[in-house]
Amino acid sequence: MILKFSPVKIPDSVSKEEWFNWKWQLRNSLKTKEDYKKYFLLSETEEKSFINTPFAIQSTPYYAQMAYSHNTLKKIILPDMKENRKGLQALKDPLGEENHSPSKHLIHRYPDRVVFLITDLCPIYCRYCTRKRFTAKDKSIIHKKEYEKALEYIRKNPGIREVILSGGDPLTLADSLLEKILQDLRAIKNIEIIRIGSRMPAVCPMRFSKDFTNILKKYHPVFIMSHFNHPAEITKEAASALTLLADQGIPVYNQMVLINSVNNHPAIVQALSRRLLFLRARPYYMFQCDPSLGTDHLRTSIKNSKWIQKNLWGVLSGLAVPRLAVDLPGGGGKVEIVPDSCMEITPQFHKFKGWDGKVAAYMEPNKDGTPSDINVYLQEWQALSQQHYGKTNTASD
Ligand code: SF4
Repeated sequence: MILKFSPVKIPDSVSKEEWFNWKWQLRNSLKTKEDYKKYFLLSETEEKSFINTPFAIQSTPYYAQMAYSHNTLKKIILPDMKENRKGLQALKDPLGEENHSPSKHLIHRYPDRVVFLITDLCPIYCRYCTRKRFTAKDKSIIHKKEYEKALEYIRKNPGIREVILSGGDPLTLADSLLEKILQDLRAIKNIEIIRIGSRMPAVCPMRFSKDFTNILKKYHPVFIMSHFNHPAEITKEAASALTLLADQGIPVYNQMVLINSVNNHPAIVQALSRRLLFLRARPYYMFQCDPSLGTDHLRTSIKNSKWIQKNLWGVLSGLAVPRLAVDLPGGGGKVEIVPDSCMEITPQFHKFKGWDGKVAAYMEPNKDGTPSDINVYLQEWQALSQQHYGKTNTASD
């Protein structure tokens, strides 16, 4: 089957120029019940949920129009009365990010990388968001003082090699401002990799133009961490954005979240993954939904996730299979869940069951040797593996 991508229908009241202007999309975002009623026929309960939800509401017209023709996606942008329920875990800060924050806008959980929250604004407010404690709270871009403080921390900690720009959505910032941030990061000698986490490829693909990607290219290596959750989000417009990014040499890695009754089936995950891979975007993670406030109705069981993973294993190209992971509540970091394949371990062999049920043993060799050029890399490895947050300087030092 040749994969095809359909465009999202432009509403009659909107011109093509407006529709394909990302700033128009953000300026004309749906924020109120009245805005949503222009796109959806809301039930009485759905209307009530707008009054009762404690969380920010927003969607780009593009995503609303997509959700209108693909009803399942409504769950991602429409508030729900169930958001008010107490919930089983209902954590304000499910990943314990505040405990790993040397300053309000930095998260330093792993030794060699930091997450840099440069804005709390998003193009849409996903109902399952893990960072509800932060998103849309100030509705602003990071203030200068906080920004300088964060840069100073990164500078003072040479073990940090990677910065993940996040928020909110960093691509809600104007090109000039984003370029200034990229410039400032590139001026820090220890920074090797810059990642930008963004929902824009899925919810506002018109954000990606040749001019904008030319800016990103200047600061390579820059990776885009996209967030597609469902194959219906891969429209003609999203496909064009991903193709442009690939042509411009900007790698895209996708992180999806498993959402109850939206994408928690191997048929849906494979459809998303195959389309992404076809467009040269790598399916990277398939996350268990974090137990943040008001998300119990959107979360799925680990049993369900393992079932999805087991069914994808071997059937789908290894390039297309995302890694299943749980971000540990409280801040322990990601734990990967792999298929249970090992049946027996002895000093002589490991016995495994493969994806198609075939059983085979791997015999252990007699002796493990050490690479002869190990000393060339040992110092680099020791510096990396001995970094610990807490032993390093803080920005206020
Ligand atoms: S775009 Fe990302 S940060 Fe913003 S609401 Fe959605 S999941 Fe949360």
